[in-house]
Amino acid sequence: MNLYNLKLKNESISFFQAIKKGLGTNQGLYFPNILPQLNIDKIRKILKKNFIEKSTDILQSYLHNEIKTEKIYDIVAKSFSFPISVKKIKNNIFVLELFHGPTLAFKDFGSRFMANILSFIKKSDEKIVILTATSGDTGAAVAHSFYKMKNISVVILYPKNKISNLQEKLFCTLGENIHTIKIDGDFDKCQLMVKQAFQDEQINKKINLNSANSINISRLLAQICPYFEGLSQMPKECLNNLVVSVPSGNFGNLTAGLLAKSLGLPIKRFIAATNINDTVPRFLSTGKWIAKKTISTISNAMDVSNPNNWPRIEEICAVKKWNINNILSAVSICEKDTKYAMQDLYKKYSYIADPHTAIAYKALKNKIKKNECGLFISTAHPSKFKETLELVLNNYKIILPKKLSKFSKLKILSHNMKSDFLYLKKFLLNL
Ligand SMILES: *Cc1c(COP(=O)(O)O)cnc(C)c1O
Repeated sequence: MNLYNLKLKNESISFFQAIKKGLGTNQGLYFPNILPQLNIDKIRKILKKNFIEKSTDILQSYLHNEIKTEKIYDIVAKSFSFPISVKKIKNNIFVLELFHGPTLAFKDFGSRFMANILSFIKKSDEKIVILTATSGDTGAAVAHSFYKMKNISVVILYPKNKISNLQEKLFCTLGENIHTIKIDGDFDKCQLMVKQAFQDEQINKKINLNSANSINISRLLAQICPYFEGLSQMPKECLNNLVVSVPSGNFGNLTAGLLAKSLGLPIKRFIAATNINDTVPRFLSTGKWIAKKTISTISNAMDVSNPNNWPRIEEICAVKKWNINNILSAVSICEKDTKYAMQDLYKKYSYIADPHTAIAYKALKNKIKKNECGLFISTAHPSKFKETLELVLNNYKIILPKKLSKFSKLKILSHNMKSDFLYLKKFLLNL
Protein backbone atom coordinates (compact mmCIF):
# COMPACT_ATOMS: atom_id res chain seq x y z
CA MET A 1 0.00 0.00 0.00
CA ASN A 2 1.30 3.39 -0.95
CA LEU A 3 -0.14 6.62 0.32
CA TYR A 4 -0.37 10.20 -0.87
CA ASN A 5 -0.26 13.48 0.99
CA LEU A 6 -3.66 15.18 1.07
CA LYS A 7 -1.95 18.57 0.91
CA LEU A 8 0.42 17.68 -1.92
CA LYS A 9 -1.15 14.91 -3.94
CA ASN A 10 1.92 13.95 -5.94
CA GLU A 11 3.92 13.27 -2.77
CA SER A 12 3.82 9.49 -2.49
CA ILE A 13 5.17 7.33 0.31
CA SER A 14 5.23 3.67 1.36
CA PHE A 15 3.22 2.38 4.34
CA PHE A 16 6.38 1.81 6.41
CA GLN A 17 7.70 5.31 5.71
CA ALA A 18 4.31 6.81 6.54
CA ILE A 19 4.35 5.13 9.96
CA LYS A 20 7.76 6.57 10.70
CA LYS A 21 7.01 10.06 9.39
CA GLY A 22 3.47 10.53 10.68
CA LEU A 23 2.74 13.67 8.66
CA GLY A 24 3.82 14.80 5.18
CA THR A 25 4.95 18.16 3.76
CA ASN A 26 2.89 21.13 5.04
CA GLN A 27 1.55 18.89 7.84
CA GLY A 28 -0.50 16.97 5.25
CA LEU A 29 -2.20 13.70 6.22
CA TYR A 30 -1.32 10.51 4.36
CA PHE A 31 -4.14 8.67 2.58
CA PRO A 32 -4.13 5.23 0.88
CA ASN A 33 -3.74 5.26 -2.95
CA ILE A 34 -6.35 2.55 -3.18
CA LEU A 35 -9.28 1.82 -0.89
CA PRO A 36 -9.71 -1.96 -1.06
CA GLN A 37 -13.21 -3.37 -1.39
CA LEU A 38 -14.38 -6.88 -0.47
CA ASN A 39 -17.41 -8.60 -1.97
CA ILE A 40 -20.38 -9.62 0.16
CA ASP A 41 -19.41 -13.31 0.27
CA LYS A 42 -15.96 -12.43 1.56
CA ILE A 43 -17.47 -10.07 4.17
CA ARG A 44 -19.83 -12.84 5.34
CA LYS A 45 -16.90 -15.24 5.67
CA ILE A 46 -14.84 -12.73 7.63
CA LEU A 47 -17.72 -12.03 10.01
CA LYS A 48 -17.80 -15.73 10.97
CA LYS A 49 -14.14 -15.82 12.02
CA ASN A 50 -12.73 -15.01 15.44
CA PHE A 51 -11.48 -11.49 16.16
CA ILE A 52 -7.81 -12.16 15.43
CA GLU A 53 -8.56 -13.93 12.13
CA LYS A 54 -11.00 -11.21 11.14
CA SER A 55 -8.44 -8.50 11.84
CA THR A 56 -5.79 -10.39 9.87
CA ASP A 57 -8.06 -10.56 6.80
CA ILE A 58 -8.98 -6.89 7.03
CA LEU A 59 -5.41 -5.66 7.44
CA GLN A 60 -4.20 -8.02 4.77
CA SER A 61 -6.49 -6.35 2.27
CA TYR A 62 -4.43 -3.19 2.80
CA LEU A 63 -1.00 -4.59 3.59
CA HIS A 64 -0.66 -7.76 1.45
CA ASN A 65 2.28 -6.25 -0.44
CA GLU A 66 4.31 -5.35 2.63
CA ILE A 67 3.71 -7.95 5.32
CA LYS A 68 3.17 -11.72 5.04
CA THR A 69 -0.19 -12.97 6.31
CA GLU A 70 1.35 -15.05 9.12
CA LYS A 71 3.25 -12.01 10.35
CA ILE A 72 0.12 -9.84 10.28
CA TYR A 73 -1.58 -12.57 12.31
CA ASP A 74 1.24 -12.48 14.90
CA ILE A 75 1.17 -8.71 15.19
CA VAL A 76 -2.62 -8.65 15.51
CA ALA A 77 -2.64 -11.45 18.09
CA LYS A 78 -0.12 -9.55 20.20
CA SER A 79 -1.92 -6.22 19.81
CA PHE A 80 -5.56 -7.21 20.23
CA SER A 81 -5.21 -9.62 23.14
CA PHE A 82 -8.38 -8.54 24.89
CA PRO A 83 -12.10 -8.94 24.16
CA ILE A 84 -14.68 -6.70 22.51
CA SER A 85 -18.30 -6.99 23.47
CA VAL A 86 -21.70 -5.92 22.20
CA LYS A 87 -24.50 -5.57 24.74
CA LYS A 88 -28.18 -5.04 24.17
CA ILE A 89 -29.61 -1.91 25.78
CA LYS A 90 -33.17 -2.27 24.51
CA ASN A 91 -35.01 -3.70 21.48
CA ASN A 92 -33.09 -2.12 18.64
CA ILE A 93 -30.30 -0.33 20.53
CA PHE A 94 -26.91 -1.90 21.26
CA VAL A 95 -23.58 -0.74 22.70
CA LEU A 96 -20.16 -1.74 21.36
CA GLU A 97 -17.66 -1.81 24.23
CA LEU A 98 -14.11 -1.05 23.14
CA PHE A 99 -12.63 -0.50 26.59
CA HIS A 100 -11.46 -3.93 27.72
CA GLY A 101 -7.79 -3.32 26.91
CA PRO A 102 -4.92 -2.72 29.36
CA THR A 103 -5.64 1.01 29.80
CA LEU A 104 -9.41 0.62 29.58
CA ALA A 105 -9.90 2.94 26.59
CA PHE A 106 -10.36 2.32 22.88
CA LYS A 107 -6.98 3.95 22.18
CA ASP A 108 -5.40 0.62 23.17
CA PHE A 109 -6.27 -0.81 19.72
CA GLY A 110 -4.43 1.80 17.68
CA SER A 111 -1.49 2.29 20.03
CA ARG A 112 -0.70 -1.37 20.53
CA PHE A 113 -0.91 -2.14 16.82
CA MET A 114 1.33 0.80 16.03
CA ALA A 115 3.88 -0.24 18.67
CA ASN A 116 4.06 -3.82 17.40
CA ILE A 117 4.28 -2.83 13.76
CA LEU A 118 6.95 -0.23 14.47
CA SER A 119 9.03 -2.75 16.34
CA PHE A 120 8.59 -5.15 13.38
CA ILE A 121 9.74 -2.69 10.71
CA LYS A 122 12.63 -1.09 12.53
CA LYS A 123 16.10 -2.58 12.31
CA SER A 124 17.00 -4.30 15.58
CA ASP A 125 19.78 -1.87 16.48
CA GLU A 126 17.88 1.21 15.30
CA LYS A 127 16.89 3.48 18.18
CA ILE A 128 13.59 5.34 18.20
CA VAL A 129 12.25 7.91 20.63
CA ILE A 130 8.49 8.28 20.90
CA LEU A 131 7.74 11.81 22.03
CA THR A 132 4.19 12.82 22.81
CA ALA A 133 2.08 15.15 24.92
CA THR A 134 -1.06 13.98 26.66
CA SER A 135 -4.03 15.51 28.41
CA GLY A 136 -4.95 12.10 29.81
CA ASP A 137 -5.81 8.95 27.89
CA THR A 138 -3.29 8.90 25.03
CA GLY A 139 -0.34 8.89 27.41
CA ALA A 140 -1.48 5.73 29.13
CA ALA A 141 -2.22 3.86 25.91
CA VAL A 142 1.14 4.84 24.37
CA ALA A 143 3.15 4.06 27.52
CA HIS A 144 1.63 0.61 27.96
CA SER A 145 1.92 -0.21 24.26
CA PHE A 146 5.66 0.48 24.04
CA TYR A 147 6.56 -0.69 27.56
CA LYS A 148 9.82 -2.71 27.59
CA MET A 149 10.23 -2.65 23.80
CA LYS A 150 13.87 -2.92 22.83
CA ASN A 151 15.59 0.24 21.59
CA ILE A 152 12.43 2.29 21.84
CA SER A 153 12.27 5.03 24.47
CA VAL A 154 9.05 6.83 25.25
CA VAL A 155 8.91 10.40 26.54
CA ILE A 156 5.50 11.71 27.59
CA LEU A 157 4.79 15.29 28.64
CA TYR A 158 1.72 16.15 30.66
CA PRO A 159 0.41 19.24 32.44
CA LYS A 160 0.89 19.48 36.20
CA ASN A 161 -2.37 19.28 38.20
CA LYS A 162 -4.47 18.96 35.03
CA ILE A 163 -4.96 15.21 34.85
CA SER A 164 -6.64 12.98 37.39
CA ASN A 165 -4.57 11.15 39.99
CA LEU A 166 -5.69 7.82 38.56
CA GLN A 167 -4.74 8.83 35.01
CA GLU A 168 -1.29 9.87 36.26
CA LYS A 169 -0.77 6.62 38.16
CA LEU A 170 -1.66 4.61 35.10
CA PHE A 171 1.29 5.74 32.98
CA CYS A 172 3.76 7.44 35.33
CA THR A 173 4.50 4.38 37.45
CA LEU A 174 5.93 2.06 34.78
CA GLY A 175 9.60 3.08 34.63
CA GLU A 176 11.99 1.08 32.36
CA ASN A 177 11.86 2.71 28.89
CA ILE A 178 8.92 4.98 29.78
CA HIS A 179 9.93 8.52 30.81
CA THR A 180 7.16 10.79 32.03
CA ILE A 181 7.60 14.53 32.50
CA LYS A 182 5.28 16.72 34.50
CA ILE A 183 5.27 20.20 32.99
CA ASP A 184 4.70 23.35 34.93
CA GLY A 185 2.11 24.61 32.43
CA ASP A 186 -1.05 23.60 30.59
CA PHE A 187 -1.61 21.02 27.84
CA ASP A 188 -1.05 23.57 25.06
CA LYS A 189 2.37 24.32 26.54
CA CYS A 190 3.21 20.60 26.51
CA GLN A 191 2.13 20.33 22.89
CA LEU A 192 4.16 23.37 21.95
CA MET A 193 7.31 21.90 23.52
CA VAL A 194 6.80 18.64 21.63
CA LYS A 195 6.31 20.56 18.40
CA GLN A 196 9.52 22.51 19.02
CA ALA A 197 11.42 19.26 19.50
CA PHE A 198 10.19 17.91 16.16
CA GLN A 199 11.44 21.09 14.48
CA ASP A 200 14.82 21.21 16.22
CA GLU A 201 17.69 20.40 13.87
CA GLN A 202 20.15 19.31 16.54
CA ILE A 203 17.67 16.88 18.09
CA ASN A 204 16.63 15.44 14.75
CA LYS A 205 20.25 14.91 13.75
CA LYS A 206 20.93 12.87 16.83
CA ILE A 207 17.68 11.00 17.44
CA ASN A 208 14.91 9.35 15.52
CA LEU A 209 11.72 10.99 16.77
CA ASN A 210 8.20 9.64 16.27
CA SER A 211 5.05 11.13 17.79
CA ALA A 212 2.81 8.00 17.75
CA ASN A 213 -0.16 10.34 17.69
CA SER A 214 -3.65 9.63 16.46
CA ILE A 215 -3.08 10.78 12.89
CA ASN A 216 -0.60 7.92 12.31
CA ILE A 217 -1.93 5.72 9.51
CA SER A 218 -1.15 2.50 11.41
CA ARG A 219 -3.45 3.52 14.25
CA LEU A 220 -6.22 4.25 11.81
CA LEU A 221 -6.01 0.87 10.07
CA ALA A 222 -6.06 -0.95 13.41
CA GLN A 223 -9.25 0.82 14.40
CA ILE A 224 -11.14 -0.61 11.41
CA CYS A 225 -11.06 -4.09 12.96
CA PRO A 226 -13.33 -3.55 16.00
CA TYR A 227 -16.17 -2.45 13.69
CA PHE A 228 -16.14 -5.87 12.01
CA GLU A 229 -16.04 -7.65 15.35
CA GLY A 230 -18.88 -5.46 16.65
CA LEU A 231 -21.14 -6.17 13.68
CA SER A 232 -20.48 -9.90 13.91
CA GLN A 233 -21.96 -9.86 17.41
CA MET A 234 -25.16 -8.09 16.32
CA PRO A 235 -28.40 -9.92 15.43
CA LYS A 236 -28.35 -10.61 11.67
CA GLU A 237 -31.56 -8.71 10.95
CA CYS A 238 -29.89 -5.52 12.22
CA LEU A 239 -27.32 -5.55 9.45
CA ASN A 240 -29.86 -4.41 6.86
CA ASN A 241 -30.51 -1.11 8.48
CA LEU A 242 -27.72 -0.22 10.87
CA VAL A 243 -26.75 3.22 12.18
CA VAL A 244 -23.53 3.58 14.19
CA SER A 245 -23.00 6.49 16.60
CA VAL A 246 -19.34 7.38 17.28
CA PRO A 247 -18.20 9.65 20.15
CA SER A 248 -15.78 11.93 18.32
CA GLY A 249 -12.88 14.24 19.16
CA ASN A 250 -10.14 14.04 16.59
CA PHE A 251 -12.40 11.90 14.36
CA GLY A 252 -9.96 8.98 14.01
CA ASN A 253 -12.52 6.45 15.21
CA LEU A 254 -15.13 7.72 12.73
CA THR A 255 -12.57 7.73 9.90
CA ALA A 256 -11.90 4.06 10.66
CA GLY A 257 -15.64 3.37 10.64
CA LEU A 258 -15.94 4.91 7.17
CA LEU A 259 -12.97 2.82 6.00
CA ALA A 260 -14.81 -0.27 7.33
CA LYS A 261 -17.87 0.76 5.30
CA SER A 262 -15.72 1.33 2.22
CA LEU A 263 -14.37 -2.23 2.57
CA GLY A 264 -17.97 -3.40 2.32
CA LEU A 265 -19.12 -3.70 5.93
CA PRO A 266 -22.91 -3.18 5.97
CA ILE A 267 -23.30 0.05 7.91
CA LYS A 268 -26.01 2.25 6.43
CA ARG A 269 -24.92 5.50 8.02
CA PHE A 270 -22.99 7.08 10.88
CA ILE A 271 -23.66 9.68 13.52
CA ALA A 272 -20.75 11.81 14.67
CA ALA A 273 -21.43 12.61 18.31
CA THR A 274 -19.48 15.52 19.76
CA ASN A 275 -19.63 17.47 23.01
CA ILE A 276 -20.04 21.27 22.90
CA ASN A 277 -16.84 21.51 20.86
CA ASP A 278 -19.05 21.35 17.81
CA THR A 279 -16.99 22.41 14.78
CA VAL A 280 -18.14 19.44 12.69
CA PRO A 281 -21.89 19.59 13.51
CA ARG A 282 -21.82 23.31 12.62
CA PHE A 283 -19.82 22.61 9.46
CA LEU A 284 -22.31 20.00 8.24
CA SER A 285 -25.25 22.30 8.76
CA THR A 286 -23.74 25.59 7.50
CA GLY A 287 -20.87 24.51 5.21
CA LYS A 288 -18.52 26.81 7.13
CA TRP A 289 -15.50 25.50 9.03
CA ILE A 290 -15.08 27.74 12.06
CA ALA A 291 -12.98 26.34 14.91
CA LYS A 292 -13.76 28.21 18.11
CA LYS A 293 -11.67 28.15 21.28
CA THR A 294 -11.70 24.68 22.87
CA ILE A 295 -14.01 24.38 25.87
CA SER A 296 -13.31 21.96 28.76
CA THR A 297 -16.01 19.35 29.37
CA ILE A 298 -16.53 16.16 31.38
CA SER A 299 -15.87 14.21 28.15
CA ASN A 300 -12.34 15.63 28.02
CA ALA A 301 -10.92 13.20 25.43
CA MET A 302 -13.27 14.90 22.98
CA ASP A 303 -12.30 18.49 23.82
CA VAL A 304 -11.04 19.17 20.31
CA SER A 305 -12.14 22.11 18.22
CA ASN A 306 -10.07 21.45 15.12
CA PRO A 307 -10.35 17.71 14.48
CA ASN A 308 -7.21 16.48 12.74
CA ASN A 309 -8.69 13.62 10.79
CA TRP A 310 -11.50 15.53 9.07
CA PRO A 311 -9.73 15.90 5.67
CA ARG A 312 -9.49 12.11 5.51
CA ILE A 313 -13.26 11.81 5.95
CA GLU A 314 -13.84 14.22 3.06
CA GLU A 315 -11.37 12.28 0.93
CA ILE A 316 -13.06 8.92 1.60
CA CYS A 317 -16.39 10.42 0.51
CA ALA A 318 -14.80 11.93 -2.60
CA VAL A 319 -13.08 8.67 -3.62
CA LYS A 320 -16.19 6.56 -2.98
CA LYS A 321 -18.49 9.20 -4.52
CA TRP A 322 -20.60 9.21 -1.36
CA ASN A 323 -22.77 12.20 -0.60
CA ILE A 324 -21.57 13.03 2.88
CA ASN A 325 -25.03 14.15 4.01
CA ASN A 326 -26.50 10.75 3.21
CA ILE A 327 -24.06 8.74 5.26
CA LEU A 328 -23.15 11.08 8.09
CA SER A 329 -25.05 13.32 10.44
CA ALA A 330 -23.53 15.09 13.40
CA VAL A 331 -24.93 16.07 16.77
CA SER A 332 -23.45 18.19 19.54
CA ILE A 333 -24.50 17.24 23.08
CA CYS A 334 -24.23 19.80 25.89
CA GLU A 335 -22.99 19.03 29.41
CA LYS A 336 -26.47 18.91 30.92
CA ASP A 337 -27.73 16.41 28.34
CA THR A 338 -24.57 14.32 28.74
CA LYS A 339 -25.28 13.94 32.45
CA TYR A 340 -28.94 13.32 31.78
CA ALA A 341 -28.04 10.56 29.32
CA MET A 342 -25.79 8.91 31.93
CA GLN A 343 -28.69 8.93 34.39
CA ASP A 344 -31.13 7.69 31.76
CA LEU A 345 -28.92 4.72 30.86
CA TYR A 346 -28.49 3.82 34.50
CA LYS A 347 -32.09 4.24 35.66
CA LYS A 348 -33.83 2.68 32.68
CA TYR A 349 -31.35 0.01 31.60
CA SER A 350 -28.95 -0.40 34.57
CA TYR A 351 -26.09 0.46 32.24
CA ILE A 352 -23.18 2.50 33.59
CA ALA A 353 -21.65 4.65 30.86
CA ASP A 354 -18.78 7.11 30.98
CA PRO A 355 -19.48 10.64 29.64
CA HIS A 356 -18.04 9.94 26.13
CA THR A 357 -20.23 6.88 25.73
CA ALA A 358 -23.28 8.74 27.04
CA ILE A 359 -22.81 11.37 24.31
CA ALA A 360 -22.86 8.67 21.63
CA TYR A 361 -26.01 7.19 23.14
CA LYS A 362 -27.82 10.54 23.31
CA ALA A 363 -26.88 11.46 19.74
CA LEU A 364 -28.16 8.08 18.55
CA LYS A 365 -31.43 8.56 20.42
CA ASN A 366 -31.90 11.95 18.75
CA LYS A 367 -31.21 10.74 15.23
CA ILE A 368 -32.34 7.14 14.91
CA LYS A 369 -35.39 6.53 12.70
CA LYS A 370 -38.13 3.93 12.96
CA ASN A 371 -37.06 0.53 11.58
CA GLU A 372 -33.37 1.29 12.08
CA CYS A 373 -31.04 -0.59 14.41
CA GLY A 374 -28.62 1.53 16.41
CA LEU A 375 -25.16 0.77 17.76
CA PHE A 376 -23.35 3.32 19.91
CA ILE A 377 -19.67 3.00 20.67
CA SER A 378 -18.33 2.97 24.19
CA THR A 379 -14.76 4.27 24.24
CA ALA A 380 -13.80 4.24 27.93
CA HIS A 381 -14.48 2.13 31.00
CA PRO A 382 -16.72 4.10 33.39
CA SER A 383 -14.28 3.70 36.28
CA LYS A 384 -11.81 5.97 34.45
CA PHE A 385 -14.26 8.78 35.19
CA LYS A 386 -15.09 7.70 38.72
CA GLU A 387 -15.47 11.16 40.27
CA THR A 388 -17.83 12.44 37.56
CA LEU A 389 -19.91 9.28 37.60
CA GLU A 390 -20.35 9.20 41.35
CA LEU A 391 -21.50 12.79 41.26
CA VAL A 392 -23.90 12.40 38.34
CA LEU A 393 -25.32 9.07 39.52
CA ASN A 394 -25.98 10.35 43.00
CA ASN A 395 -23.31 8.58 45.01
CA TYR A 396 -23.34 5.33 43.09
CA LYS A 397 -20.09 3.64 44.18
CA ILE A 398 -17.76 2.71 41.32
CA ILE A 399 -15.43 -0.16 42.10
CA LEU A 400 -12.10 0.08 40.33
CA PRO A 401 -11.24 -2.95 38.21
CA LYS A 402 -8.02 -4.76 39.18
CA LYS A 403 -6.20 -3.37 36.13
CA LEU A 404 -6.60 0.12 37.58
CA SER A 405 -6.49 -0.48 41.32
CA LYS A 406 -3.10 -2.18 41.15
CA PHE A 407 -1.59 1.03 39.71
CA SER A 408 -3.15 3.28 42.33
CA LYS A 409 -0.75 1.83 44.90
CA LEU A 410 2.45 2.42 42.90
CA LYS A 411 4.87 5.32 43.18
CA ILE A 412 4.88 8.10 40.55
CA LEU A 413 8.26 8.24 38.80
CA SER A 414 7.82 11.46 36.78
CA HIS A 415 10.41 14.19 36.33
CA ASN A 416 9.35 17.77 37.00
CA MET A 417 10.15 20.33 34.32
CA LYS A 418 9.58 24.04 33.71
CA SER A 419 7.65 24.80 30.54
CA ASP A 420 10.80 25.79 28.69
CA PHE A 421 11.88 23.94 25.58
CA LEU A 422 15.60 24.13 26.46
CA TYR A 423 15.10 21.77 29.41
CA LEU A 424 13.31 19.28 27.20
CA LYS A 425 16.05 19.53 24.59
CA LYS A 426 18.70 18.78 27.18
CA PHE A 427 16.67 15.84 28.46
CA LEU A 428 16.27 14.35 24.98
CA LEU A 429 19.91 14.79 24.02
CA ASN A 430 20.96 12.97 27.20
CA LEU A 431 18.60 10.02 26.82
C1 LIG B 1 -9.77 9.59 22.05
C2 LIG B 1 -11.10 9.33 22.62
C3 LIG B 1 -12.29 9.65 21.92
C4 LIG B 1 -12.30 10.35 20.59
O1 LIG B 1 -11.80 9.56 19.55
P1 LIG B 1 -11.32 10.23 18.18
O2 LIG B 1 -10.80 9.13 17.37
O3 LIG B 1 -10.26 11.22 18.57
O4 LIG B 1 -12.51 10.90 17.59
C5 LIG B 1 -13.51 9.34 22.51
N1 LIG B 1 -13.56 8.77 23.74
C6 LIG B 1 -12.46 8.48 24.44
C7 LIG B 1 -12.61 7.87 25.80
C8 LIG B 1 -11.18 8.72 23.90
O5 LIG B 1 -10.09 8.42 24.64
